[in-house]
Amino acid sequence: MTRFVAYISTIRQRGVQMNSYRGDKRRNTYKKKTGRKKAGNKNGLKRWSGKGLFKNRYILIGIVLLLILTIVLGMRSCMTDGAYHVDVDASEPQLDVQLLDVNPYSRPGIQSDGITGVVIHYTANPGSSAQENRDYFNGLKDSHETEASSNFIVGLEGEIIQCVPTWEVAYASNERNSDTVSVEVCHPDESGKFTQESYSSLVQLTAWLCVKFNLTEDDVIRHYDVTGKICPKYFVEDEDAWAEFKKNVREAIDKT
Ligand SMILES: [Zn+2]
Repeated sequence: MTRFVAYISTIRQRGVQMNSYRGDKRRNTYKKKTGRKKAGNKNGLKRWSGKGLFKNRYILIGIVLLLILTIVLGMRSCMTDGAYHVDVDASEPQLDVQLLDVNPYSRPGIQSDGITGVVIHYTANPGSSAQENRDYFNGLKDSHETEASSNFIVGLEGEIIQCVPTWEVAYASNERNSDTVSVEVCHPDESGKFTQESYSSLVQLTAWLCVKFNLTEDDVIRHYDVTGKICPKYFVEDEDAWAEFKKNVREAIDKT
């Protein structure tokens, strides 16, 4: 029994030793760690400020990139969407009158009823000029390909060719042929968007026609509003652009 007790106490002592050893070791490790940590903290200030510098540099680069992006996007939006510069009134634009020969396919020679609206179209033939479209209409008298024409064609440079007198029916707007004046607009590409020059001429021509026939911008419609055809494409796909166009027509009328 005494031996057993002695054995237990030996184990306990060992346990204490072991524990204290572990404790020492831990303490040592802790010291080492603390030592490192402390050393780290001393130089740490420099290190941290170094990291901060890097962080600041990234923030700076971020801000510069954001600025560049804003400028580029701003310039793009100025060059594309809704950024037509219009400074026209409703005075008569310069018209290049090249009336079509009277024929059943493009100029039937039928007198219009009272004009109650202006219908806007696009040629749906990217890059074609006003002259080419006019000549195509006139050529229908021989080709008999289809029945088509327009009172006016606005070209890529803003030139305006008149093909059919405003008091005569043109074949452009289906059931509205007899009480409206039609305007075809050329466009450089598939998007159907008009050039700045075409747009300015279109605003002036439309405003002039409104004044001439005692109409307002609300009487200006798209071919789309007559038949549902995607014409003029740009003004059908972008309702804001259409609203902006009518606003520009209003402003041109008000200037007169
Ligand atoms: Zn059309």
